[in-house]
Amino acid sequence: MNKIYDCCVVGAGVVGASIFNKLVRIGKKCLLLDKASDVATGASKANSGIVHSGYDPMPNTLKAKLNVRGNALYPSLCQRLNVPFCNCGAIVVGDNEEKILALKNRAEQNGVPVEIWNRDKILEKVPNIADNISIGLFAPTSAIVNPYYLTISLVDEAIINGGDVSLEEDLVSVKKLENCFEIKTKRNVFHAKKIVNSAGDGYNDVAKIIGSEKHKLIFRRGEYFVLDEDSSKEIPLTIFPLPTEMGKGVLATPTVDGNALVGPTSVNDDTRTVVTREGLETIKQKSAQSVKDLNFRKAIREFSGIRSICGNDFVIEKSKKIDGVINLAGICSPGLTSAPAIAEMVVKLLEFKDKEKENLKSLPKFTLFKNMTKQEQEDALKKDPRYGQIVCKCEKITKGDIIQSLNRPLKIRSTDGVKRRTNAGMGRCQGGFCFTKVIKTICEERGIKYEDVLKENRGSEVAKGNIRNFSTSDFPTTTKKVIKGKFTKK
Ligand SMILES: Cc1cc2nc3c(=O)[nH]c(=O)nc-3n(C[C@H](O)[C@H](O)[C@H](O)COP(=O)(O)OP(=O)(O)OC[C@H]3O[C@@H](n4cnc5c(N)ncnc54)[C@H](O)[C@@H]3O)c2cc1C
Repeated sequence: MNKIYDCCVVGAGVVGASIFNKLVRIGKKCLLLDKASDVATGASKANSGIVHSGYDPMPNTLKAKLNVRGNALYPSLCQRLNVPFCNCGAIVVGDNEEKILALKNRAEQNGVPVEIWNRDKILEKVPNIADNISIGLFAPTSAIVNPYYLTISLVDEAIINGGDVSLEEDLVSVKKLENCFEIKTKRNVFHAKKIVNSAGDGYNDVAKIIGSEKHKLIFRRGEYFVLDEDSSKEIPLTIFPLPTEMGKGVLATPTVDGNALVGPTSVNDDTRTVVTREGLETIKQKSAQSVKDLNFRKAIREFSGIRSICGNDFVIEKSKKIDGVINLAGICSPGLTSAPAIAEMVVKLLEFKDKEKENLKSLPKFTLFKNMTKQEQEDALKKDPRYGQIVCKCEKITKGDIIQSLNRPLKIRSTDGVKRRTNAGMGRCQGGFCFTKVIKTICEERGIKYEDVLKENRGSEVAKGNIRNFSTSDFPTTTKKVIKGKFTKK
């Protein structure tokens, strides 16, 4: 039998990654499995990126407790991992004093500091607040973070401290042996004493294979507009409408990269990450009720994410059917905020001692060339002149930055993976200029053929084969149309 892990975490979103990171930090031998080709490809890459203060969840629920605890853990976590984090605050705005006061009461029950702002005070901060807004509830502990960059950093830090990650793993069977589980995937067999099912919208698929409890999940799509850099000046903090039973409503928020997000919609029973014309119209109409004159001509991208909802609260429990299994179902909002606190709770459920190892290694600082000091830039250029070659013109990302991202502890082979680590392709042209250059750099650095480079997951190969007899060094600036299996030589 090969290595027996103390625990196997299935699902590498921000929740699975937080649990994995925590388990490695307390000295457990841990394996993180995901069917995708990178971490953070589910809900954790497509959300509002808000570290909620905790004014909204119903008091005494898991959501309320873990939100508030998670919010408190974020500043030191992001500092440790060098993940951009901005404590910009948030305000819930409306024209109904009674409802705002009820929300204040709920915030206070949850132990969340809040202040009532009148219209004049709101106008000082947000000059383009909608005309009907008369009152607001300001939450100073609300913050923003880049959710996928956080997930990547959690996983990288765990790897350098001894954690194992296996991606592109399709679970086939899980069998309970005498002292551990045998976990078979299409490619491998692993052994672990405990299993955490943190598979997000795939929770029930994994539960079925393990033989543990299934839960009734509702999938709710949320669509967004991304506005170009500088838009965050108009939206200096997160602006929410009053919440409804469908969620916190269409918000406008800055991002840590200087863009602004406007959304999300709430469309039930849909697992497709599509963006619809109706959805985008809804965002325009609803956001105008809080903030006027948002410039949607500055929209550079639209995207959507899927919330997995299970009743009114998170389900985080020991399986009653299979000893040694922990179930995490319905981790919708505020799951990103709660992730570090969920990790603490899971350690308790696993009955491990929450004491961090000594001599943990720190994650090296991965600084983009444009963010380096003059001296750091000179040193980087001396070490690797490729820091002098611009690949992504919009975001000013160099070839050296791309190579640095490919040499992070978790090895990836997708252009979206590079995008999440560097922002290459996230600017105004959305990768029009740099896409093929990124592919070429992945080929060179990974030593793989361009047919092996993915856009995101398996099945999204950027090319199918070669129609001309060229090597990756001749890789063209436009993608050739290729018919699988047919090669023509010059
Ligand atoms: C529109 C929207 C806005 C949101 N905004 C916020 C916000 O501002 N603040 C906040 O706190 N929360 C927010 N959330 C909630 C937050 O995004 C989620 O709670 C969080 O990302 C859930 O993380 P996760 O790791 O549980 O799931 P995911 O990120 O979905 O990860 C699940 C992982 O499991 C893997 N998986 C699935 N099936 C299998 C399988 N069979 N085998 C192996 N692996 C599998 C997937 O590939 C994926 O990597 C929002 C969510 C949405 C959708």
